[in-house]
Amino acid sequence: IMPIIALVGRPNVGKSTLFNLLTRSRDSLVADYPGVTRDRQYGFGKIGPCPYWVVDTGGMLRDVERLDNAVDQQARLAVAECDAVFFLVDAKEGLQADDYAIVEYLRQQNKPFYLLINKIDTGDRDLLMAEFYALGIEQTHGVSAAHKKGVNPLMELVLSDF
Ligand code: GDP
Ligand code: MG
Repeated sequence: IMPIIALVGRPNVGKSTLFNLLTRSRDSLVADYPGVTRDRQYGFGKIGPCPYWVVDTGGMLRDVERLDNAVDQQARLAVAECDAVFFLVDAKEGLQADDYAIVEYLRQQNKPFYLLINKIDTGDRDLLMAEFYALGIEQTHGVSAAHKKGVNPLMELVLSDF
């Protein structure tokens, strides 16, 4: 069975960049402004002999006050139908209130999720990663989707769980 991996996180954290890397396609629109991926975008990828599906989402957050509305509907659907979630945060911007809202949401779902601290190319890796420990997630993964760093070992780890 091919696992389905959903990419979620605030706009602009690098979901579509990672999607393109994982699927080696240009299908998912990457842009400098948030919310550009309006619908779920599916892609197929393979690491060694292990195939997988990846789902890109707009991952928009509209209302952090009300958790019910916090995660966009298509991101919810992506989470509902996936086998594992990649929760991306932005090391360049640092920890945001919306990140807490997303992690709260993910904790209520019955899906394994991985915290990907993206854009670690923008500074000192350990320093950039440190503040995200506040999210209370034990295992974190520093990656750079744009520079293709840290992604392969993570995928090998994730795929070995299936
Ligand atoms: P999305 O809204 O979460 O899909 O984010 P995008 O993939 O569209 O990326 C938003 C911006 O962040 C773009 O300008 C990307 O080039 C940039 N970006 C994505 N990944 C990285 C990374 O690993 N390092 C750096 N420095 N920039 C990145
Ligand atoms: Mg996107």
